[in-house]
Amino acid sequence: MDVLLIGGGISGLALAHQLAPDHDVTVLEASPGPRGGGYMIDFFGPGVPAAERMGLFEGLRARGRVFDGVRFERSDRSVSGTIDAAPLIDAADGRYFSILRPEMERGLLAQLPDTVHLRYGARAVGLRDAALQGAAWPRRAIVELAGGERLEADLVVLCDGVRSMGREHVAAGHGPVIPMGYRAASFLFEDPELAAELGDVALMTDSIGRIGGLYACDERRAAVFLAERRGRPPRAGEPSGPEHRPSPDPALLRRTYEGLHPLVDRALEHAPEDYYDDLVAQSWAPRWSRGRVVLAGDAAHAVSLLAGQGSSLAIAGAEVLARCLRAAGPQVEVGLAEYERRWRPTVERAQRAGRRSASAFIPATARQQRLQQLATSLLHLPGASRLFARSALAV
Ligand SMILES: Cc1cc2nc3c(=O)[nH]c(=O)nc-3n(C[C@H](O)[C@H](O)[C@H](O)COP(=O)(O)OP(=O)(O)OC[C@H]3O[C@@H](n4cnc5c(N)ncnc54)[C@H](O)[C@@H]3O)c2cc1C
Repeated sequence: MDVLLIGGGISGLALAHQLAPDHDVTVLEASPGPRGGGYMIDFFGPGVPAAERMGLFEGLRARGRVFDGVRFERSDRSVSGTIDAAPLIDAADGRYFSILRPEMERGLLAQLPDTVHLRYGARAVGLRDAALQGAAWPRRAIVELAGGERLEADLVVLCDGVRSMGREHVAAGHGPVIPMGYRAASFLFEDPELAAELGDVALMTDSIGRIGGLYACDERRAAVFLAERRGRPPRAGEPSGPEHRPSPDPALLRRTYEGLHPLVDRALEHAPEDYYDDLVAQSWAPRWSRGRVVLAGDAAHAVSLLAGQGSSLAIAGAEVLARCLRAAGPQVEVGLAEYERRWRPTVERAQRAGRRSASAFIPATARQQRLQQLATSLLHLPGASRLFARSALAV
């Protein structure tokens, strides 16, 4: 069958890789080319064995790196705590690494079968069922692109991220994201001296209401990750209104984070106009498919950076979806239902874990900050770090 994947990010490329042997696959990606910039992803969890089975793991690991741990510093640069990464890496049998999101995208692209049609600069703006005369259920779907082009396919997979343009089509009323009470920003910048100073340890600020993280990407570049509290995290089941993506504003970013830490101030001097800026958010839909349109990756089930496994789940979910479609053969709807039945419990567990950790992500008060410092110091007790590692890796 012919399959249109909307979005050439992590889930779109992983899925294209898996569907290509059996189907005619086209990926429509809105950006003009592979996306640069971005943030560091810790790759662990269900995506690891899935990527191994898919033959993708080593190609991704070769583009990643392993950090020794994290050092927490106050604004005067005094060290308030450390976390050693070794127990986490041991608990994952050494299959744990960090990778820049653009590198993960490039790693997937490098392994993409050349039968996949990849169209950059193709933004989907509309979706419709292509009802067949006399058929009880639409057997094809139509995608409308910016510029007016219309494409029809036997199956359309929405791999277009947490702000999916088609989630509303599949599950009316569930288009908007679910904000988790934080706004995050991130960018890479050239600073060989800083990269050398950071070395193999990530630096996190020990602060209230806002945090900064800095790490070396390679010998020349460093990256900064910034996040601030924005209202309170939602309570379970609480409805959320539509939340639009904020626009990057380097001057506002500088005002928000200056004084947090001397190295954050230094990073802010490099803030580009188009840095990554968004609300920390989850996505949820009571159903993942409608007719011949199905949601995958963050479009279906963003866990948010609070759970930290979004790309891992995007890759593992792509494998599940491809396997279910293969098993269902011409009964595509049966395959889509089976994909949801098998995969939903795993991602919903990860989403719940993300929501549980939401209120503790950035301390709101000095008391919460002290509790976080205590928790970090307890990790140095014998056995505690192994316990933490196991719970961090569990989904
Ligand atoms: C700051 C931050 C830190 C993170 N850290 C981690 C981490 O440590 N570990 C981890 O596993 N995950 C992490 N994640 C999550 C991870 O990046 C996502 O879960 C993962 O990228 C989801 O992949 P996806 O393909 O579903 O969506 P995306 O990677 O967002 O890709 C969606 C693609 O669709 C394209 N697109 C969007 N709309 C359209 C359209 N209308 N038409 C055509 N194309 C379109 C976009 O340009 C994009 O290329 C983090 C996320 C953030 C924001």
